[in-house]
Order: sequence, then C-alpha cells, then structure tokens
Amino acid sequence: MTTTPEPANLTPDQKKYGAHDIPSYLDPNNIGPYEIYLEQVERVTPYLGKLAYWVETLKRPKRILVVDVPVHLDDGSVAHFEGYRVQHNTSRGPAKGGVRYHQDVTLSEVMALSAWMTVKNAAVNLPYGGGKGGIRLDPRKYSQGELERVTRRYTSEIGLIIGPEKDIPAPDVNTGPQTMAWMMDTYSMNVGRTATGVVTGKPVALGGSLGRSDATGRGVFVAGAEAMSKLGMPLEGARIAVQGFGNVGEAAARIFHEHGAKIVAIQDVTGTIYSDAGINPAVALSHLRATGSILGLSGAEEVTRDEFWGLPCDVLIPAALEKQITLANAGRIQARLIVEGANGPTIPAADDLLAGKGVTVVPDVLANAGGVTVSYFEWVQDFSSYFWTEDQINERLDRIMRDAFRSLWDVKERHGVTLRTAVYIVACTRVLEARALRGLYP
Ligand code: NAD
Repeated sequence: MTTTPEPANLTPDQKKYGAHDIPSYLDPNNIGPYEIYLEQVERVTPYLGKLAYWVETLKRPKRILVVDVPVHLDDGSVAHFEGYRVQHNTSRGPAKGGVRYHQDVTLSEVMALSAWMTVKNAAVNLPYGGGKGGIRLDPRKYSQGELERVTRRYTSEIGLIIGPEKDIPAPDVNTGPQTMAWMMDTYSMNVGRTATGVVTGKPVALGGSLGRSDATGRGVFVAGAEAMSKLGMPLEGARIAVQGFGNVGEAAARIFHEHGAKIVAIQDVTGTIYSDAGINPAVALSHLRATGSILGLSGAEEVTRDEFWGLPCDVLIPAALEKQITLANAGRIQARLIVEGANGPTIPAADDLLAGKGVTVVPDVLANAGGVTVSYFEWVQDFSSYFWTEDQINERLDRIMRDAFRSLWDVKERHGVTLRTAVYIVACTRVLEARALRGLYP
C-alpha cells in the first residue's frame, strides 16, 4: 500500500479535515461564484418534483449585457471600465438587484449575485425576478466627479434594458443613495420624464423610502433573532462577531447591540478588532469616521484577519463579500449560528462542514432580504406617489421577515434539510411554477 505524503505547510484545518495540497482547479475553495450557485441548484433539484422539468431555467441567466464605460478622468485622459447588467430571471416580475463597484467584479460574480436575487425575491415572495449589475473599478481611486461620470455613462449604456417595469437597480457594495440619485437623473433625462421608480435606495428627498438605509441590517437582526429563539439562544448578552462594517454590518451590529447582544469582534477592510467586554458599534463608527480605520479603538485589541474566524462567539455575521467562509476557516468557527448578511459568503464545502458540526446557517437569500423588501416598498410608494411612515415600513418589514423565516424553518424541519436548502426549495418552486404557468413563447 502506498500513502501520499502530507505537504509540510498544511493549515490546522487542513490537518484536521483532511484537505490536501490539491491543484487549484480541484480546490473547493477556488469555486467561482456562479458555480456555487449552480451547486446550490443541483442540491435542490431532487425536491422540485415535476417542476424539475424546468430546472434549466434556473441555470441560465435570461439576459446578460456587458458594456464599455469610457469616461474623461480629471487629468484629461480617457479611462475605460467594464460594466455588467445581468437579468437572471423575470418569470415572477421585473428584474431587481443592486449595482456593485469593486476592483474584483467579474461577470461570474454578477451572474451569481443576480441569480441569488431571483432566489431571494421568491423566498420572501416579492413580485420580482433577479438582476444585478457591477463595474470593475476601485472607487477609492477616483474623485466624486469621476464616479459621477462613470455612473451616468454606465446608466446610459444599460438604459436599454432597465426601467421601472423592466429592471430596477439598487445600491450594493461601494454604491449608495448618491449613486442612485445619479442613475435616476440620467435615466430620467434619457426618457424625458422624472422616473423615480427606475432605482431604489435613493435619497428620501428624491422618492427614496424611510428605513431603507438600515433595512438590510434590520432584516439580518430579525432573521438572526428568530433563529436564536428557535435554537434556545438568549439575545441578552449573546456574543456576536461581524465581518464588514458598512451598510449591512454596521446596522446589524448596532441593532443587535440595542437589543442587548454584545458585539465582541468587528472586521472590515482596514483590520480586525476584538473586545471580550464588548464594542459599542456607535463608538466604533465614530472612530472609523474620524480616523478612517476601526483599528485603534479604545478598549479593543487588534487581532489578525485570520484569527477573526476562531474567536469565541455565539453568532457570526459575515457582512462583507462572498467566499469568506471556506475550508480554511470553517472548522475553527465557534459560533452556533451564522447569519449571512453578505451574499454568498459561504462556499458549499464549508456549508457541509458547518452542518456536520451542528452550526445553523441562516442563508443570505433569507437573512439579507430586508434590503430588497424595503426597496420593494420604495418602488410601490414611488408608483403611488404616497409615502409611508418609518414605523409603518419597519413594522411591515419585520412582519415579512418574521413570517418568511418561520414558514421556511417549518420547511427545513419537514424535509430534514439545512435552512439554505429549505429556502431554495420554496423559492425555486415559486419561480418554476411561474415558468410552467407562463409556458414558452413562441
Ligand atoms: P458596504 O460597501 O457598505 O460595506 C462593505 C464592508 O465590507 C465594509 O465595511 C468593508 O470595509 C468591508 N470589507 C470589504 N472587503 C473586506 C475584506 N476583504 N475583509 C473584511 N471586510 C471587508 O457594502 P454593503 O452594502 O454593506 O454590502 C455588504 C454585503 O452585503 C455584500 O455582500 C452585499 O452584496 C450584501 N448585501 C447588501 C445589501 C444592501 O442593502 N446594501 C443588501 C443585501 C445584501
């Protein structure tokens, strides 16, 4: 019998879980975002019954637009950026999903993000399909004027396929209300009327909705608190670690803190901090705004990026980017509950490892659906030109998130599957029912 010698540089996880130094194309950690999504669809197919006949619909984006975005830079030169808008599915309504500005944006990533929007919108039963957009650029390297020109040209280029009844963009990583204001204005100039409903996540002064900026983090809190209640975990004093301290992570941390939980660790692009006694997210935010970094916060110690994953905590909230929880760190995670604020933060192999350890994962397509839910409210308000109070919005958001969580948890219990598979069963069934009823044209 021959044995393969173990490479000397195995990480503790690789030693423990038996991962070897395999070629990158076979490494499950190297899976592309769209492949992650396809694997999730494979896993749900056995539960789709007769609707599995239509499952190919879920694997193929309906429409992909790749655009060149040329702009004048402040120094007088011309730069070209690659932009994308993918409409993954429109069986249940117009495409809906954010626009991301990041140096690592790829078509595979935008395809995956658009597909996850299809699943998410169906999971919470919003009358939308799924879409997503992105531009490959590092916004930190460009002035506000340059970013405005990029946004306006990109909007004109994708103007062919977006519109209040066709496809409604929203903010995502590194885009926000100002980006949406420029997109709304550009689209409106091109169609010759003010079309507030073409994007959501706008400033309130332009037809945006109250409650939108906190909506995703608030939804993460509602889903997380529901899961804790099912697992018999008290909210008071629960130790929470958050990766990402932007729109989603900061709001989620703040709302958990307001409800008595203890934020023990925060990681963002600038570093990682830990405090056994707990971090006040409002103080951390002021510190970040004042210094440009979360590091150096009084009462919190700096730890390495990698140490973050093994810190003692009850709940882990990844709220930064995809593919953060991999076989390289999943084995060390101490939390009993993971609430995915980010889209696609866990690779499928790590999902399996976590399930084997008894860790409950509230998947992205449920946990972060609060943002698109309030986007839906914004779109409805824009159409009716009648605006709701913040209390009404929060109450309706909480109810949709809570009801969706409870019914999806029941499906998980009934089928004996993970919550992610349960959400996919319900969402994919809804999308494919619509597909089957509509039939094929011509
Ligand atoms: P954001 O740009 O406001 O914040 C991103 C955060 O991630 C920042 O704190 C940044 O420092 C941190 N970050 C970036 N790279 C990192 C790294 N390598 N390690 C650790 N931290 C890093 O973005 P956001 O809107 O909060 O979005 C975060 C995630 O949530 C994304 O996956 C996004 O798709 C998802 N999401 C956002 C919304 C929304 O309404 N904004 C809705 C649903 C899902």
